[in-house]
Amino acid sequence: MRIKVLPEEVASAIAAGEVVERPASVVKELIENSIDAGANEIRIEVVEAGRSRITVADNGEGIQTDELELALSRHATSKLSSRDDLFAISTLGFRGEALPSIASVSRFEMTSRARQQAEGRFIVIEGGARIDAGSVGAPTGTSVHVRDLFYNVPARREFLKSDRTEQAWISDYVQRYALAYPSIRFELTLDGRPAFQSSGRGQHREILAEIFGIDRAHSFLTMAPVDAGQIRLEGYLSPPIVNRSNRKELTFFVNGRWIQDAALSAAVIQAYHGLLMVGRYPMTVLFLEVPAGMVDVNVHPAKSEVRFREPGQVFRVVQRAVRATLLKQAPPPSLESETQLPSGFPVQVGWGDGEGSQRWPEFPEPPLRSLELLPAEAGSEIPLLRSIGQIGASYLVAEGPEGLYLIDQHAAHERILFEKLMGEMRAGELESQGLLEPVTVEMSPQEAALLEPQIEVLQGLGFGVESFGSNTYRIRSLPVLLMNLDPAAALRSVVEDFEEDERPLEKALEEKVAARVCKRAAVKAGQVLSLEEQRQLVRQLEACQSPRACPHGRPTMIHMSVDSLARQFGRRG
Ligand code: ADP
Ligand code: MG
Repeated sequence: MRIKVLPEEVASAIAAGEVVERPASVVKELIENSIDAGANEIRIEVVEAGRSRITVADNGEGIQTDELELALSRHATSKLSSRDDLFAISTLGFRGEALPSIASVSRFEMTSRARQQAEGRFIVIEGGARIDAGSVGAPTGTSVHVRDLFYNVPARREFLKSDRTEQAWISDYVQRYALAYPSIRFELTLDGRPAFQSSGRGQHREILAEIFGIDRAHSFLTMAPVDAGQIRLEGYLSPPIVNRSNRKELTFFVNGRWIQDAALSAAVIQAYHGLLMVGRYPMTVLFLEVPAGMVDVNVHPAKSEVRFREPGQVFRVVQRAVRATLLKQAPPPSLESETQLPSGFPVQVGWGDGEGSQRWPEFPEPPLRSLELLPAEAGSEIPLLRSIGQIGASYLVAEGPEGLYLIDQHAAHERILFEKLMGEMRAGELESQGLLEPVTVEMSPQEAALLEPQIEVLQGLGFGVESFGSNTYRIRSLPVLLMNLDPAAALRSVVEDFEEDERPLEKALEEKVAARVCKRAAVKAGQVLSLEEQRQLVRQLEACQSPRACPHGRPTMIHMSVDSLARQFGRRG
């Protein structure tokens, strides 16, 4: 094949592919345009998760009638004119690609009236082709309707996830921008129902409460503004006791732009070092301001990544500021208070970087009581084992006819509880215990969206949970296995691990939720077990149908045969 320059339509299809990945990208680009236009009110309407319609309307400065068509051509922008401008970008947009890209993969309609002009203008584009344009009466500002997104790119359409997932992406963008621009009033409706709203009164705290729920947002620590050289930083941090199982809630804004940055995430996680259990992550919202010349925003077509000129410096500033805030506002309990902890309290986690002997306790663990409920039956897949002891308060050592077994106590207990729970559920004799007082939990809209389809399954598992108004739930009873946990935390913990993308079938959903419940209820690594408890655990594991892996698929045990021991000691070739 000979080399040729791509026709314009092919080139724009390629560009569109990078900029418009999913409905949420459309929402993001249109919101950015509205913010750049100085709007203080932005209304977003989404129908069928953006598949059938996305509308973004603002009261910004609008577009001059004679420039509307131009705004829709590729590389047309009012935000950049010279190459030098690229290194001093103060607007969210600058590539002049979003509108033509969106218009090339949808039925697109834009109406705008500039502040100084008496009338507005509209333009209609379908799949990149101009269909209609003309004058029209309109309020100052701009409104864009994007209908039938990807109607002409079926592959993209098929690629979209469930409505719930696409809606969660959209809400995410709207909420992040609301946080970054608290003086702008945002309003999001999903299929005609209000899904999110910010008042535009300039209060971060108010928006945090909308996003995270009042009680959690209330617990967040405020990081006082830090001025470090040319970097300004402020934000909000969850105290160590408020945490989650993934790093999705580490939010960074750089000069008002929501970005993803692995190094900044690492800086925050490092700052929490020693304060959180392994595998738990904080929720943080950090606003960084750096001189435009110190950051390159032209890294990615979706503008969701940046490159700092001095990445090491930014890392240090963030890590120190977060750490300092935590030490000051959420100090670990002193050594004296440790002596008041009940005996058998789990192993303490020391501070990682030279903060002396201060220690921070892990959460109280549910006692092993539930172990006794389990009958040890025959029919095992592993040989009968003899318990020998425990290593590192985490692994059990046992001996069998074929050698040495090291058992991960947490994984093993998860497996045991899982089979018990599933067995009880199938037999219709699941144990659930009523709470003295029902507990009300407020969820974030995203959590509520994840919880909603699981409610029935949760009820089947002994969670007496019911909807109690918008994003609020009431818990009346808990599975017996979780009786020792805080009900709200127990409910959150089964919801939060759900990936946005998960759409498991009913059957699988049941098992997944059950596995999560068991993960919560199982003894943790770091918990000292008596010899009798160790024996019981091993016996119950022997009785399991699939004793070799926990419900999440991790191995429960490592086996070293007598043969391999002999080899390792050089007794045998
Ligand atoms: P960019 O934002 O990178 O400049 P876009 O394709 O998103 O590129 O928009 C092209 C131009 O159209 C913008 O530079 C701006 O002048 C104008 N424009 C787009 N949306 C709006 C809006 N909501 N209000 C006012 N002007 C807008
Ligand atoms: Mg733009």
